Amino acid sequence: LVVLSKVNKHYGALHVLQDIDLEIRQGEVVVLIGPSGSGKSTLCRTINRLETIDSGRITIDGHPLPAEGRELARLRTEVGMVFQNFNLFAHKTVLENVVMGQVKVRKVIRSHAEKTARELLDRVGVGAQADKYPAQLSGGQQQRVAIARALAMKPKVMLFDEPTSALDPEMVNEVLEVMRQLAADGMTMVVVTHEMGFARSAANRVLFMADGRIVEQNTPDAFFTAPRSDRAKDFLSKIL
Ligand code: ATP
Ligand code: MG
Repeated sequence: LVVLSKVNKHYGALHVLQDIDLEIRQGEVVVLIGPSGSGKSTLCRTINRLETIDSGRITIDGHPLPAEGRELARLRTEVGMVFQNFNLFAHKTVLENVVMGQVKVRKVIRSHAEKTARELLDRVGVGAQADKYPAQLSGGQQQRVAIARALAMKPKVMLFDEPTSALDPEMVNEVLEVMRQLAADGMTMVVVTHEMGFARSAANRVLFMADGRIVEQNTPDAFFTAPRSDRAKDFLSKIL
């Protein structure tokens, strides 16, 4: 569904993505882990061209991702993104946050967009909060709204960049539970996370990144019980 071939990116002298080859299949849940600064967020952001690349090729559902223009805008709507800090519009209600993109970008009529928004808010367990403003919600609730907002664009793949790391511990699970459900429903997902329990239980594949490269990839069972590279062993010894 998403294919990266020989993707390279630099920030000045820093070679932040080095020859990344990656194929994400339909319905697959890929968890991306690795030390801070290894390029995980950059990789996520390149998948929907929030970041430009210096060389290589990215295709989504067989369509090459162009550098700009209408085709890029269209392909971007097929890639949902959820960030660490929710990024909800503070001066819009919860409902409006989920309605807006549908109306503005996907040109859905408002009444239909509202119906979809309410269904999605129910699905992530915040239906009762629809008329509140983001600041009136807990972090876990806000993040679930952010997930509903991304889903409203009917993406083919969802990217999550540390979706629970800004949350108080007691709210982490409610967000992971929504993500587990999404995975069980067959959504294609790329998830950057430090939640190893989620990686073990929900991932089809774990990618370990270090210094801008995918150093190792395997099923979660194999990766966590028998990492092959020294970098991965060292990383796991620090976090497990
Ligand atoms: P973390 O676990 O801390 O989120 P990460 O694996 O997501 O780390 P990235 O955010 O992708 O890492 O950053 C990779 C490297 O690129 C880091 O060394 C970072 O300092 C650098 N970097 C990221 N964004 C920029 C930027 N806009 N300009 C210059 N350097 C950047
Ligand atoms: Mg990051």
